[in-house]
Formats: sequence, structure tokens, C-alpha cells
Amino acid sequence: QNIPVITIDGPGGSGKGTICRLVAQKLGWHLLDSGAIYRVLALAAIHHDIAEDDEEALQPLAAHLDVQFTSDDAGNVRIMLEGENVSHTIRTEEVGSVASKIASLPRVREALLRRQRAFREAPGLVADGRDMGTVVFPGAEVKIFLTAAAEERARRRYLELKQKGHDVNIGDLLSEIQARDERDMNRAVAPLKPAADAYLLDSTNKTIEQVLTEVLSFTKKQL
Ligand code: C5P
Repeated sequence: QNIPVITIDGPGGSGKGTICRLVAQKLGWHLLDSGAIYRVLALAAIHHDIAEDDEEALQPLAAHLDVQFTSDDAGNVRIMLEGENVSHTIRTEEVGSVASKIASLPRVREALLRRQRAFREAPGLVADGRDMGTVVFPGAEVKIFLTAAAEERARRRYLELKQKGHDVNIGDLLSEIQARDERDMNRAVAPLKPAADAYLLDSTNKTIEQVLTEVLSFTKKQL
């Protein structure tokens, strides 16, 4: 398979989502938002009243998850679960928190592997997640690990959620982000960590524009 992949891993709020979308747009490549898959699974579990540690029930739910990514003419991605548009409902911290609990279950991760790899289509893929460069696409041509200080990530999430009309408290967001980091970094399977060959980028004091430029110039050198 010689379809190139750029992996961008890192904690929530590091700017991964925005950067991946812009890089994919710029190159005309496909985009995999793997976090959205875990979030949709979390929402499906909530809908079906399945406990977040019930691996027995979550494994088949993951394997048969009816999730669809569609994009309109303006390039906006719509995420559908069982035919329902869940693009907005999956973005809450509550769903993110359930997603990160479910994501620690090895059989759930295993069940989602093939689905994620299927996104690798010509002319190329930009993959956004926690384990894109370490587990899902270990042979990726370009690997980036994007971080930012937790306080800055909480501030960004706060602005983002507030703009969408959610009623949020920045202190609560910071503790939720820290709890989620803790879980994501310390789980036994596919923990959040940079691949050995990843380019480390800290976005704390950088604008989106600066990060994008750095990612694109690194990518150019690697490809
Ligand atoms: O990136 P996002 O915040 O949407 O991801 C939600 C959760 O899904 C993360 O906190 C993480 O636990 C899980 N996840 C994961 N592996 C990925 C992407 C997301 O475990 N590749």
C-alpha cells in the first residue's frame, strides 16, 4: 500500500482537529477523525443503556456501529449515527469522558481498527487521534505529536463550547481535561504517547496559522 498517511496525535484541545481539517483541505486528502468514532460509540452506548465498562456488550456494538461521515458542498462534515445527525451531540465533555472510558477497553479498540484503516484511500489520508502513529498507521510517512498546556486547552475548549451556546465552567473543563489526559496516557492498550519517530509540536503559544505552516513544511520534507 503506498497511499501516504499523515498522523497527528495528541491530547484533546491541542488543535489537532482544526489542523487536521486544514491540512486535509490544503492537500485534497481524506480525513479520519478517530476521536469522533469513539465519541459516536459512547453515544450509542448511552442510547442503548450499556455501561462504560461492559466490554462484552461494547465489543459487538463497536464492531457493528452504524456510523457515517458525510460532507456537504461547503466541506462541513456531518456525522450520522443510525441515520441521526449527531455532529453536535458528540462534542460535549460528557460524551468525551464516556468515550475515553470506553476507549480503554482492548476489544473495543480492536473492533475499530479495520474501520479506521479503511479511511486510507488515494490520494492520501490525514489521521487525527491518540494512537494513529503508534498503532493504527505505524508505517505512516509523516507523524506529528501535537500538544499544548492543559490550561490553554481548557481555555480553547471553553471558547469553542461557549460559542456553540453551551453553558460551561472553565474550572470544570480543566479538571475534565486533566482526568481524560490521565486516562488516555495511562491505559494499558494504545496509550496516548508520541511515536518514536514523531515530530513534537507544542501549540501553547502558537496561532493556528503558525502550527499549520510548521506541519506543512515538515510534511513537505518527509514526503
Ligand atoms: O479527540 P477526541 O476528544 O474527540 O477523543 C475522544 C476520546 O476518544 C479521547 O479522550 C480518547 O480517550 C479516545 N480516543 C482514543 N483513540 C483515538 C482517538 C480518540 O482512544 N485514536
